[in-house]
Amino acid sequence: MDAPVQEYDYAMNVKVEEFPIQEEIKQEQETKTKYLPYKCIYCETCFAEKNSLVIHLEKHNREKPYQCNLCRKCFAKNVYLLQHQRTHIENKPYKCSGCDKSFLQKVDLMVHKRTHT
Ligand SMILES: [Zn+2]
Ligand SMILES: [Zn+2]
Ligand SMILES: [Zn+2]
Repeated sequence: MDAPVQEYDYAMNVKVEEFPIQEEIKQEQETKTKYLPYKCIYCETCFAEKNSLVIHLEKHNREKPYQCNLCRKCFAKNVYLLQHQRTHIENKPYKCSGCDKSFLQKVDLMVHKRTHT
């Protein structure tokens, strides 16, 4: 009489134990992504330590010799830089009070303003 009951209990124990093991694996994967807070802005690779990201970024900077003179972002190709600089041009902060032209840099506006006088 006792034997079948014990067998049943044993089977139950195994079933119950299976769940925490799976949960542990899931948690481990979650913490792995949680502990990579440093994300590369160029290729979206994540790093656990800031130092690793800095080293990684230096590699990108070597690969990207075209630097934007306005925001210092680097690009691998001149085309990308020009494309990027277009976004700056679209947000030109220096507007001429004499006409509807606007400029990226204050100096450019100053030079332009001379044409009005
Ligand atoms: Zn990267
Ligand atoms: Zn820029
Ligand atoms: Zn003007």
